[in-house]
Formats: sequence, structure tokens, C-alpha cells
Amino acid sequence: MGPTSTHEVLNQPPPLAGYDVFSADVALADAARRDGAAWAVDDLAALGRLAGSEEAIEWGRLANANPPLLRTHDRFGNRIDEVEFHPAYHDLMRAALDHGLHTAPWAIPQPGAHLARAIGFFVWTQVEAGHGCPVSMTYSAVPALRAAPELAAEWEPLLLSRTYDPHARPVTEKSGATCGMAMTEKQGGSDVRANTTHAQPAASATGPGCPYLLTGHKWFCSAPMCDAFLVLAQAPGGLSCFLLPRWLPDGTRNRMHLQRLKDKLGNRSNASSEIELDRAWATMVGDEGRGVRTIIEMVNHTRLDCVIGAAAGMRQAVAQATHHAAHRAAFGKLLVDQPLMVNVLADLAIESEAATVAMGRLAAAYDAAAAGDEREAAFKRLATAVVKYWVCKRQPAHAAEALECLGGNGYVEDSMMPRLFRESPLNGIWEGSGNVICLDVLRAIRREPASFEAFLDEVALAGGVDRRLDEARRCLEAELADLDGIEARGRRVVEAMALLLQGSLLVRHAPALVADAFCASRLAGDSGRAFGTLPRTVDGSAIVERARPLVA
Ligand SMILES: Cc1cc2nc3c(=O)[nH]c(=O)nc-3n(C[C@H](O)[C@H](O)[C@H](O)COP(=O)(O)OP(=O)(O)OC[C@H]3O[C@@H](n4cnc5c(N)ncnc54)[C@H](O)[C@@H]3O)c2cc1C
Repeated sequence: MGPTSTHEVLNQPPPLAGYDVFSADVALADAARRDGAAWAVDDLAALGRLAGSEEAIEWGRLANANPPLLRTHDRFGNRIDEVEFHPAYHDLMRAALDHGLHTAPWAIPQPGAHLARAIGFFVWTQVEAGHGCPVSMTYSAVPALRAAPELAAEWEPLLLSRTYDPHARPVTEKSGATCGMAMTEKQGGSDVRANTTHAQPAASATGPGCPYLLTGHKWFCSAPMCDAFLVLAQAPGGLSCFLLPRWLPDGTRNRMHLQRLKDKLGNRSNASSEIELDRAWATMVGDEGRGVRTIIEMVNHTRLDCVIGAAAGMRQAVAQATHHAAHRAAFGKLLVDQPLMVNVLADLAIESEAATVAMGRLAAAYDAAAAGDEREAAFKRLATAVVKYWVCKRQPAHAAEALECLGGNGYVEDSMMPRLFRESPLNGIWEGSGNVICLDVLRAIRREPASFEAFLDEVALAGGVDRRLDEARRCLEAELADLDGIEARGRRVVEAMALLLQGSLLVRHAPALVADAFCASRLAGDSGRAFGTLPRTVDGSAIVERARPLVA
């Protein structure tokens, strides 16, 4: 008898859906309990179940398959400067705001609030990364906006609201608001002091809290449907920070014109625009000429979110790769039982866990610093940059390797892997690209010795436990003993610092098999240059089992 149908579907894994993205991630759930967010575990599990649901996964697909559309004018020729999104994008935004991922730690500043929010963002961004941009910018804008207490009093009730209100209308008619930022110009992104957008006083009173008219062009302004933006512009007294609302107090549109949307590698659900400011009305935030100092509060929090985004991308890649390998057979055995595949998956899992544990520790430092702990504030200052550099730097190679674990299926959009791959370089570019971050670390080491001390103290908490960790610390100190040509060695220094911190955290908090594999491969150099080159002593299968999400 011949076959009765043209083909039978065999040896294909079930979809990775119907699971709790939070609880299935052992390292993440441990971080929540250990670092001060045990109280949030039930809410995080609820968010985890939503993130793992078929419905939410479909929102993520649709939001990317149907990217936003720019509508500059209405049918009569009036400027409207609006962006239209697919309903799935709004579903994603609604869920994010409903769970307080935009501003919960500012609304309810309890111990562990930043960590709980970070873990929530980590869970939710695994569904879809693009809509995380306005969520993250709104979170980050609040502390910067507090430099202008009157503006903060006016805007915070809306920014802190958990109602997602996407309508393009004056905020006085809205039940919730989001905030973006516009710093980058054509001639300079990292070097914002090269900004040419200028701010002219709009009234006789000038300075903080006073109105200005902004004229110029911003080369990248993501999520332009936000209700307000923190903008850098040159005031008579130097580069300053402004809050620019989309609508004017008289109910008309502000003169912020969307020129076009960027055609980007990834992050497609997120509208990233070029904008023209034509005497756009804005209010000065913080002191005149101190724009960078004012907006740096926002930048630091978005850097934390870059770490979360990159770590989450790696976690989702590991979840997909281990799930696939557990259900796909080749040459008579499941992939997850093939020794060389185990080595690859275990190596990816270690990288992901190292990123997760560093992310959790960093977010906990934001909580401690907010509670007035100066040591933690000093640690956070340096660790944010160090971890941002390294976790973001690792993500693209990690995404590519995880994609390959799925073979040809990994190259096909349905698998979600192409989206993870396209997202993977972005966190490294945002909020300080690799080199800029490394130079920032060197600057902090030189000018803020307390931050370097706090960093080394944290590493030392695992001192004497693993000789490879102790040796790596000695190597770092030797590297820094001679500061000649240090700028060119910036990446070496920051990479070494990041590995030390991750090693110290894993030695203290992860099972010995994970910490040992990390120290052997990342600190003692017992590995090759590609993933999948862990030494033979490593128990790869146990590491993979720890990382693999189980679907009920
Ligand atoms: C999808 C997307 C969305 C974005 N959204 C926004 C937004 O909403 N608002 C906003 O303001 N910006 C936004 N940006 C812009 C982003 O923040 C900038 O692209 C980034 O800061 C880098 O600036 P740049 O592109 O001008 O690169 P440059 O500053 O020209 O840097 C180019 C390269 O040179 C390196 N470099 C710079 N200085 C040095 C140095 N001294 N030594 C060695 N190397 C150096 C950098 O690390 C980088 O690798 C967005 C970008 C993207 C891709």
C-alpha cells in the first residue's frame, strides 16, 4: 500500500506556547525572590502566562508583520503628523501599561519595585521588543522630569496611569500618557553637544520652567505618537533639556512635524521617525546649559532597559532553541541528546543565565539607590555601563547561534528567530554604542573612584571561592595598573569587568555546574571562539534541562 496523503507532519516540535515565561525561567524566578521582589511573584507569573499564551505571541507576530504607517496630512491637506498602528500593537501596549511596566516603581516606590518592573519588562519584551521602546522611555523620563517639579506635578498623574490611551488629542482630554525622547541629530548622536536645534525664549522670563520655541531637526525620534518628548536643544545659555508636548495648551497641535519613518533592520513594530521642529513650543527642564546632566537620568534608566532587552532576547532564544532540540530528532536521536548539540545549547544557556543574573543585580541596585544607599548608587553608576556594554555585545552572536539550532526552520519568520536576530544589534546601539559606553566606564573609573571601589567590592563578595575568578581579578588590576593607551584598550577592560561581575554573581547564586562552566569557559579561557566549545568536564545536559521551558 502506498501513502494515502501527500505528506504527514512528522518530527516537528509543538509550538512553544501555553507556558509561564516567568516561572519557567529558573534563574529569573530566583532573582526575583533573592533580590527583593518576592512580593511580586504572583503578578509576574500572571504576566508570564500572558506572555506565553498563543494570543500574545500572535500579537507580536502581527505587530511586526504590519509595521506602522505615517500619515502626515489629512484628506484636506491639513498636517496631522500621526502614525497608524496595527491593533495588535495596541494590544501589546495595553498589556504593558496595565502591568505597570512603564512607571510602576515611580507610582508605588516600594522596596524591590525597580527589580519587579525589570523582571516584568524582561518577561513581556520576549513577546515583542518594538513596543517596549515607548514603555521604556516613559519609565525613564519620570526621574528626569522631576528636575522640573511643576511640570512633573502636571504630567505624572498621566504618565503613572495604567490606562493606555492611544488617542491623538490634548492630554487634558486623556486618561494616560507616554513620553519619548529626541536627542540624536544628523550630525551627531553620541556627541549630543553637536546638536544644532536651537531654543529661543518664548516669553520675557527665561530658564527652568519657562517656555521656549524650538527649531531644528531630529534624526531619530522613536514612538512619535507619545504625548510628550524630552528634547535637547541649544538655548542662549547652552545645551538644555526641554519637555515638548505634542499638543499645545490651547488644544492645537504643536509644530513637531513627522518627516518620515525609518526603514529599519528590525524593531519594525516601533515607529522611529525623523522630525522637524518649526518653532515648536516647549518648557525648559532643569538648569539652562545643563541639558546633558538633566537628561542623563533618563539615559541611565534606558540603559538599564537595554540590558533587560538584550538579556530577555537571549533568554527567549534559549527557550526556543532548547524546546526545538527537545522535540526534533536527527540520525536516530533527539537533538537534545546529541553531545555536540548539548554543548551548543549549554553554552547559550550559560550566556543567557549570566546576562539574567547581572540584569537582576543591576535592577536591585536601582532600588537600593532610590532608597538612599550611596554605595549602591556608586555601584549602579559603573555597573550599568559595564553590563550594558557586554550583555548587548553578546546578543547578536547568541541570536545567530540559537537560530542555527532550529536549522532551516530558524531562518523562517514563523519561528520568531529571524525577529530575535534582527532585534539583536539594537540594544548595543541605543543609549551609548559600544565604544561610547566603554569610554564612559573609563571616565567613571578615573573621575568617580567610589564607583570603581563599589564595583570591586561586589566582585569580592565571591573572593577566595573560585581561583579562576580571583585570577581574573588580578588580571584586571594588572590591565589597569598601566593607564598608558587605556582608551584603545577600553573594550578589553570593560569586557574583563563584566565577566568578573557575572562570574562573581554566578558563583554566589547559581548552581555549581553553571558557575563552574562559566568560570572555566569565560574566565579561564577553556573554550573556543564559537558557542558550543565548553570543556568536556561540563555537565551540559543538566544545564540544558535547567534552561529548557516545560510546556504543560
Ligand atoms: C531604531 C533606533 C531608534 C532610535 N530612537 C531614538 C530616539 O527615540 N531618540 C534619540 O534621540 N535617538 C534615537 N536613536 C539614535 C541612537 O541613540 C543613536 O543612533 C546612537 O546614540 C548613536 O549615535 P549615531 O547614530 O549618531 O552614531 P555616532 O555617534 O556617529 O557613532 C558611530 C560609531 O562611532 C562610535 N564612536 C562615537 N564616538 C566615539 C569615540 N570617541 N571613540 C570611538 N568610537 C566612537 C560609536 O560607538 C558608534 O559605534 C535611535 C536609533 C535607532 C537605530
